[in-house]
Parts: sequence; C-alpha cells; structure tokens
Amino acid sequence: LRREGFGGPIRVIGDERHAPYDRPPLSKHLLAGKVTAAQIVLHPADDLDVDWHLGRRVTGLDLPTRTLVVEGDDGRTDEPFDGLVIATGATPRTLPGADRLRGVFVLRTLDDSLALGEALAGASRLVVIGAGFIGSEVASTAKSRGVDVTVLEALPVPLARALGERMGGVLGRLHGRNGVDLRCGVGVAALEDDGAGAVRRVRLVDGTAVDADVVVVGVGVRPATDWLDDSGVALADGVLCDEWCRVLDHHGDAVPGVVAAGDVARWQARRFAAPLRVEHWTNAAEQGSFAAGTLLHGGGAGCEPYDPVPYFWSDQYRSKIQFVGHASGEDELAVVEGSLDDDRFVVAYGRDGRLVGALGLNRPARVMAWRARILDGAAFPPPTE
Ligand SMILES: Cc1cc2nc3c(=O)[nH]c(=O)nc-3n(C[C@H](O)[C@H](O)[C@H](O)COP(=O)(O)OP(=O)(O)OC[C@H]3O[C@@H](n4cnc5c(N)ncnc54)[C@H](O)[C@@H]3O)c2cc1C
Repeated sequence: LRREGFGGPIRVIGDERHAPYDRPPLSKHLLAGKVTAAQIVLHPADDLDVDWHLGRRVTGLDLPTRTLVVEGDDGRTDEPFDGLVIATGATPRTLPGADRLRGVFVLRTLDDSLALGEALAGASRLVVIGAGFIGSEVASTAKSRGVDVTVLEALPVPLARALGERMGGVLGRLHGRNGVDLRCGVGVAALEDDGAGAVRRVRLVDGTAVDADVVVVGVGVRPATDWLDDSGVALADGVLCDEWCRVLDHHGDAVPGVVAAGDVARWQARRFAAPLRVEHWTNAAEQGSFAAGTLLHGGGAGCEPYDPVPYFWSDQYRSKIQFVGHASGEDELAVVEGSLDDDRFVVAYGRDGRLVGALGLNRPARVMAWRARILDGAAFPPPTE
C-alpha cells in the first residue's frame, strides 16, 4: 500500500504476539537449530508507519457498518475500516485426541516450531503423520538431528495432490534413501498414551503400532475463515475472490473495498480456468502486493487480472524440490532434463496440448526458465532441445 502511494493510516491486526516472521524456516533451519527466532523476523521498512495490533484476534466482520470485531487481553473492540485486506492464512488440521496428549504437535507458528524443537532434543523416535511438504521437511530435519523417523501416509503415494501420483512416488523415494521409514496406504486408528498423559505409540487401522516419543500431525490445513462464517462473504474452502482478488458476496458480487490474499484466498485464475487457492510463500507475497493495488485502484474489467504462474519450493535431505505452475492428477508428463533415476531432473506437465507446470529436483536455475515458458503459453509436449 505504501509503495503504491497510500498515505493514510494502516492497522495490521494479528493474533500471534510475535513481530511478523518468515514461516518456511520453521520446518527447516529453525527446527534444525541453525538459525534463531530473532533471525527469521521480517524487517519492514522503517517508514512503513503501520499501527501493529498484535496478540489480538478478529472474531467477526459486519459488512453493512464496515466494522471488525476484535478481541484481546484488553477486551473487545469494534474497529471501523474503509478498506480491508483479508489475509488470515490457514490453520493446521489435527486428529481426534491429539490435543490432550503431550508430545503431539502441529507445525504452523513460531511457537509450534520452538516447542517441537525442544521436544525433539530429548526424543529418539518421531512419527510424522502425513507425508506432505511440511511433514516431509520435519522428517528430514529430525533425521538430521539424529532422531529415528517413521512417516505414515494414508494415500498410496505422497504429494499426489500437489504433484500427481507418479512424481509423488518419485519424490517419496527421498525418504527411504535417507534412512526414514515411509509407509504409504496406512490409516491411523488412534494415538495411544503412556498412562501419564504423554504419547507412546501410534496405532494403525491394521492393528499394528509404531512407537513414538514425539508425533507430528501434518495432515494439511484449512483456510482460517471461521470469523467470516456469518459475514455474508462467500466461502468455499477459502474466501472466494474474483480475478482481481476482490472478495465476493453470496450473490457473486465484489464487496467494495474488501480484498483477500495468501493461503486464505481462492481466486478465479484465468490462466488455469479454475478457482485456485495456493498455500505457498511466493503467492502470499505476490498476491498481497496485487490485492493492495486493487484496494487503491479498484480492479475489474479493463484492469490486468491477478494471473501468476504459482511457484513453490521445498528443502528435504539436502535436495531442493521446486514446482512452477499448477498440476492435476490427469496431466501428461515428459522428462525434459536429466533422468528420474538421478537426483537432478526437470519434468514438464501438460494439459490439452499446453505446458501447465514443471517440477525440478536440484535444478534451481532451470525451473525458473520453465516458469517463463508457461507464462508465454508454450505448447506441450515441449520441443526437444
Ligand atoms: C512450517 C512451514 C514451512 C513452509 N515452507 C514453505 C516453503 O518451503 N516454500 C513455500 O513456498 N511455502 C512454505 N510455507 C507456506 C508459506 O509459509 C505460507 O504460504 C505463507 O505463510 C502464507 O502467508 P499468509 O500471509 O497467507 O498466511 P499466514 O502466514 O498463515 O499468516 C496469517 C496470520 O493471520 C493470523 N490470523 C489468523 N486468523 C486470525 C484472526 N481471526 N485474527 C487475527 N489474526 C489471525 C495467523 O495467526 C497468522 O499469523 C511453509 C509454511 C509452514 C507453516
């Protein structure tokens, strides 16, 4: 907003008490003890002139009066606004009974990461439930700290939703090669305690059990929209937005002066002809920036839509995984650089004769070249070089 020239007052309301910080290190360098909490704090420009309301939770939105209901230690206040950016992110899903046991963690916040790091210091056996990106990164980091790790995944291969089954299977091999026991197609029946309130083992639906001192539940997130339930904002696994990140109401009309960005926002993505919600760092930054522009200049027909080629990375076992674009289970695949048997390759994803994605393992510079080709609307299969 400031970069676009907005000179009015800005309030940022957030329920965490910490100054804003970078989340990706929570499962990587911070959990490994290689950086401190102070080193992952984001440093907004000094002249940002923002009024920070930290440790305060928004519990309601009243659109007719353009007011937020905000609760904190100092009680409840009503906060009027002219413009509103909804950027409440996502909340980890958990499992029944997980909350009442010591030694069971989810990982979303700085506090989660610090608590998990402390628990791992005294642990010898970690069970990670869910082989998504965060679960896989936790497994990798814990292994590097000398902990025995078992990863339990309900689906036949990991990362199938993000990358499709074939490539999920290829990347899942990283676990076994690095001494982590990945078990796919297994259901969790219960978390069992040691009789004194701490987790002792994970019981599987086939009756067997895996011992654990620490359990991380990494079974995905849900968009943080509870506070919007009765607001009139359209919700469908996220806050529904149009192509300019303008928040929609139940009639499908844009609510004036209300935009959304980041993990919470599901916007109409023109390039992929689909409503997309992206749970990755680069999108949060790019969409936040775009949404600020919409708030100031309006958006709508005649303006450029928000139409990025999404990008994410994940660091596991000294390997860098990167993906650009948007994958679906039905995409065609072509290995365009290296070989799947090596630890260095690029695989292109195609749909309806068009290049829609590229996955790289340990090919950082090359993946960005493929992002440019997707932006250019390149054909699939790509010509051989
Ligand atoms: C452990 C971990 C590792 C990750 N690693 C990677 C990675 O390697 N690569 C990558 O691309 N992405 C990664 N991500 C994802 C990336 O961090 C997220 O996509 C990004 O943080 C989303 O930003 P956001 O601002 O939309 O939401 P968030 O970062 O979740 O911020 C939302 C904030 O709003 C607060 N909030 C929620 N509800 C309310 C309310 N009602 N009132 C007040 N405040 C509220 C939340 O507490 C939170 O502080 C990782 C995420 C995690 C958790």
